[in-house]
Amino acid sequence: MKEFNIILFMCNWGPHAAFQTLQDTAALIPDEIKMVRIPCVGRISKALLLRCFEMGTHGVALVGCRPGSCRYGTGSSNAQGHVEDTRGILELLGLGKDRLRLATFLPDEPERLLSFLQDFSAEIREMGPSLVVPSEESILETEGEDRVKDIVSAHDVYACQDCGKCSSACPLTLAGKPFSPRGIVGEVIAGHIDDPAVQKDIWSCLTCGLCYDRCPSAVNFAEFIRDLRHYLATRGSNSYAAHGGFFQSLMRTMTSEELPIRHWDWLPKDIRTDPDSKVLFFGGCAPYFDIFFRTHLGVKTRNTLVDSLRLLNFFDIHPALLQDERCCGHDLLWSGDQENFLKLAQLNVRALQDMGVEEVITACPECYHTLARDYPRQGVDPGFKVTHIFDLIEKEIDKGAVSFKELDRKLTFQDPCRLSRLENRSDLPRKLIRRLNPVSFDEMADHGASAICCGNSAWIGCDAFSKALQVKRIRQAHETGSDLLVTACPKCQIHLRCAMEDPFLGEALQMEMMDVTSVLAQTIEWE
Ligand code: SF4
Ligand code: SF4
Ligand code: SF4
Repeated sequence: MKEFNIILFMCNWGPHAAFQTLQDTAALIPDEIKMVRIPCVGRISKALLLRCFEMGTHGVALVGCRPGSCRYGTGSSNAQGHVEDTRGILELLGLGKDRLRLATFLPDEPERLLSFLQDFSAEIREMGPSLVVPSEESILETEGEDRVKDIVSAHDVYACQDCGKCSSACPLTLAGKPFSPRGIVGEVIAGHIDDPAVQKDIWSCLTCGLCYDRCPSAVNFAEFIRDLRHYLATRGSNSYAAHGGFFQSLMRTMTSEELPIRHWDWLPKDIRTDPDSKVLFFGGCAPYFDIFFRTHLGVKTRNTLVDSLRLLNFFDIHPALLQDERCCGHDLLWSGDQENFLKLAQLNVRALQDMGVEEVITACPECYHTLARDYPRQGVDPGFKVTHIFDLIEKEIDKGAVSFKELDRKLTFQDPCRLSRLENRSDLPRKLIRRLNPVSFDEMADHGASAICCGNSAWIGCDAFSKALQVKRIRQAHETGSDLLVTACPKCQIHLRCAMEDPFLGEALQMEMMDVTSVLAQTIEWE
């Protein structure tokens, strides 16, 4: 989007009357301002606000009614929350929070409105054009039917024996959803990919990998689904994205090369890092999650990053950080947007290679799987070693002289799919948990490779069945008699916390959650 432009979302009620007065009197409204008249600014979601910036808009203003004069009661305060959160995200992205404003006006304040519009436009011009380059539509490389056949062959789906073990293990099927992985296999092989019901099922799969774990023919169903999604996305069939597609939009925005991302600006000052270190800590998207869910779920997944770094510092490891770290691309890849995934992969790898990084450490199972497996499999050779922090901490502890303080908590553990199944490393967190000194550690009924998924993957397809899975999972945690649910993935925390916020069931589901790294960091000591 080359043309200089500002989008003005204007409430139909109070401020629009003021705007109309300006139009009627031929006031000098800056040309670059494109006004969109809406029923209430409270209806403009964070996803829509970010989408404007993803499309390359230079500035966005929400102009609503004064608090107290909103026709819908909470419109202005809702808008304030959306704007505040999105400004926080824009700041991390390096776009600058001041590209987004909220202002309120009464109908009889046209002069004040005009000053606001002229000042805002001048400030945006001063800030210069947005550095976001909107991503282009994907182009399909091979013709439809052949492409589907290629995907079926690539994943050896013809080897399916129609045994149904996948369907009898699938958590969605068990949650009561009319959904069957075996059924999808049959429909796709039969050439019914254009059937809307088949497409709906392809977008519904959690890609949790439980079916792969059970399949006697080793059909990697999750990866089969991933590639079918890419095929569908390139033909214009898209998923129902959770949160209005906010996170997909965020990741696509990060594909802009010139974006001066400020991923680590918030880090506590006592954390020791070394820009010249050949070992780098890759954080993942937790800083964005904490802003987005700040008021809704009270999420604090940044703690995992801080505590991971504290653990590294404890062992005298002062890693480098990539200030313009971008999302690893996991969610784009698994929601069918391979092109933008590749852009993120290339940008991250190039930046890390420019820093001379030899080893990347991460505490996020999705980042780990993506950097270590999916980058090379998708043709982006990282050229550095990728280590999960659990592996590294385990080795450091093995060197001796470390112990753990007593922990007056009863623990249970939620396995993340990417670590326990896609990586087949459910042992990694357990080895560390077993070193701790809690009152007890008890496994849930389904654990390790059989664990139930947290109910959502890649921010798509969240529905009542996701919620049913989360409720089932948290009930399993309670059944162990534990009082602390230890996790190893920021998204497990977010999705399970979401179920705990349920207005009807939430109170009975409450359980404190903490990442393994936080439990370790808070109890580790030198002997
Ligand atoms: S478990 Fe494997 S072989 Fe059996 S129906 Fe499912 S995909 Fe086919
Ligand atoms: S990947 Fe998970 S949700 Fe998808 S079909 Fe397999 S078991 Fe079901
Ligand atoms: S479960 Fe996760 S994806 Fe679904 S609404 Fe809650 S936070 Fe969003």
